[in-house]
Amino acid sequence: MNSHFASLNIDDFYVRRLRDLNIETPSAVQAAAIPVALEGKDVVAQSQTGSGKTLAYLLPLLHKIDKTAKEIQAVILVPTRELGMQILLTLEQLTEGTGIRSQSLIGGAAISRQIDRLKLRPQIVVGTPGRIMELLKVRKLSFHHVRSVVVDEVDQVFELGSMQEVEAILKSMMRDRQVLFFSATMPQPIRAVIDRWMNEPVYVQVHPEQRTSQTLEHLYFVCEDRDKIDTLRRIVRLYNPPAAIVFVNETDDVAEVVGKLQYAGLSIEALYGEAGKQERAKVMQQFRAGKFQLLLATDIAARGLDIPHVTQVINLDPPIDADHYVHRVGRTGRMGKKGTAISIITPKERFIINKFSKALGIEIHEKELSYGKVVEPAQRRRFEEQRQVRVEPGRRGDGGAEEAAPRGGGLPAYKPAPPKAAAAKARISAEPAPAFGAAAAPNDSGREAAVRPATAAAPANKRKNDRAREKDRKNKGAPRWLKDKQNKPGT
Ligand code: AMP
Repeated sequence: MNSHFASLNIDDFYVRRLRDLNIETPSAVQAAAIPVALEGKDVVAQSQTGSGKTLAYLLPLLHKIDKTAKEIQAVILVPTRELGMQILLTLEQLTEGTGIRSQSLIGGAAISRQIDRLKLRPQIVVGTPGRIMELLKVRKLSFHHVRSVVVDEVDQVFELGSMQEVEAILKSMMRDRQVLFFSATMPQPIRAVIDRWMNEPVYVQVHPEQRTSQTLEHLYFVCEDRDKIDTLRRIVRLYNPPAAIVFVNETDDVAEVVGKLQYAGLSIEALYGEAGKQERAKVMQQFRAGKFQLLLATDIAARGLDIPHVTQVINLDPPIDADHYVHRVGRTGRMGKKGTAISIITPKERFIINKFSKALGIEIHEKELSYGKVVEPAQRRRFEEQRQVRVEPGRRGDGGAEEAAPRGGGLPAYKPAPPKAAAAKARISAEPAPAFGAAAAPNDSGREAAVRPATAAAPANKRKNDRAREKDRKNKGAPRWLKDKQNKPGT
């Protein structure tokens, strides 16, 4: 790997800008792609999510911009508005004060305003294929001077049905333009487009076998479908991440899930493809600013997003295939930072996890929630066994779930409301100890108490006492006239 951006022939001005952003050493994909892109070659670059692909194409592209010219010289095509805005922001950070102008041309925004802004003569445009085609058709754009075109997250651009538009856009340019395709995944249909539109492309593949970041930990929890939301709630309470993205498959489920989780007291908002432009922008801005903890999203909406404080990705629905898994989990564990990818699945969905694990060559560990901790299933079984052993006849515990659980493990502490078993246990422990001769003393195990042969062996006077006490207990809080009535002989 090159030790410095300057050794990659990046202009000093940008090297200093990058240093101001704490970016000093090129990442693997940058070290590999920047030199070939600077040579003017067509490039197909595949590397993990969060590995610095944006700068790998922006830096060579900026190198070639003639800031005195007023024509569009570079085009960046993206699948979504959010990714487009993110790239525009990076461009603006890099080019501030240089005289280089960039503009976004994204569907969903007012086209008339975009046409007006084009009068400022940007040299770089970032946009979605549909909107760019619209503007080309009405001749508000001209790509005759374009030298470089990048398709970022190219697989998703094509998946969203924009392959023809991308090809039409490429057709509107001169033949000597440079084409760069970037993505973490390169499914088969892209190959045909590469053959049609690229000239002897250079393939840059950084650890293609290693498709997810090595700094990611992959976990899954199994529960029934109806318990998924509650499991998610418990996981979030337990880990309490600064920010996490929760994925669902269907946009139809978004409102329902958000409603349930907000009701459960979680700080969550949704970002989904069908929401209005302003609403999406507001949600993204607030999430980036740390105004809420969880972002509920669908695959499309969250593709390519770079939000540095996201430490967890949680799949409430399993992704449809291994490629989607790669893109989802790639929202965390970026650029060497640690991250956790958690899938919440039903017993029937276990096979999906096995499939991803095999396809991606990664270990996805099964975990369980037990006594406010994240444990391995075997560890949970050991807990249970130890608990059984610790339940000694005659011992009266106070029955707290946390006390009953074996200590240690270094896992984050979690103080949940007492689970049902614990509540039952507390009730049992509070009962008075039998006077004498009972088969088993009350103990801190609900199960043991249930199998205890009630009061069968108790002497008759104890049964009488118990009945009297029970009547007394029931009477508590009853109106005086009723108590008097009940205490009358014969009632
Ligand atoms: P990307 O994969 O392009 O979305 O980039 C992921 C994140 O890494 C972004 O926040 C970048 O600012 C950051 N980044 C990109 N290149 C480097 C680098 N060479 N060193 C440190 N951080 C970087």
